[in-house]
Amino acid sequence: MTHVLIVEDESRIASFIEKGLRSNGFTTTIADNSDDAAAIALDGQVGLIVLDLGIPGQDGLSLLADLRGQGCNVPIIILTARDDLQDKVEGFELGADDYMTKPFRFEELLVRLRARLRTATAPRNGHSTDTILQVGNILLDLRTRCLQIEGENIDLSAREFTLAETFFRHPNQVMSREQLLDHVWGYDYAPGSNVVDVYVGYLRKKLGDGVIETVRSMGYRLRP
Ligand code: CA
Repeated sequence: MTHVLIVEDESRIASFIEKGLRSNGFTTTIADNSDDAAAIALDGQVGLIVLDLGIPGQDGLSLLADLRGQGCNVPIIILTARDDLQDKVEGFELGADDYMTKPFRFEELLVRLRARLRTATAPRNGHSTDTILQVGNILLDLRTRCLQIEGENIDLSAREFTLAETFFRHPNQVMSREQLLDHVWGYDYAPGSNVVDVYVGYLRKKLGDGVIETVRSMGYRLRP
């Protein structure tokens, strides 16, 4: 049973996450400030940390840096209202394993949390099937969040990465715009927006021609 530390100062959100995790077999502790969070994180009982960035005391990013600096190597998922690229980049550079923005769906947090726990227990040497998804000559590394085409690294934004991951987990399956919106954007989108088409366009430019095909009036499909 994995013990999850929820670092969150909004009690409504903290108890929402706690309730969901407990009903899925996890044990939890909530810390509503950085001092308590650091003490609990470093006591060796915690298997994963869900980290809000705007918390009383030390900022979440600086807490993250401190924890990594002090040898805490459990998976850390940032869960924050801050959605600008700079915070995401900094979060990953400081050692976060994942970054989710609020508002969020609990189901998505749970999926990501389980994925991070699988990664954490998977062997770190070689290509673990849990951390590398492959379609044709394209590799998607879930641990480093890198896309590789024939050995060449391609940069993806966080959203592009999540979109790519969704396609790579469902190769040769037609994904409707609604499914993609649901998987990648959660409920944080304007209905009727063309955000999916725009991002599929971005991803196509990076993956190359013909990798993601349009299935008329149905959606998109990643060709195996
Ligand atoms: Ca907060």
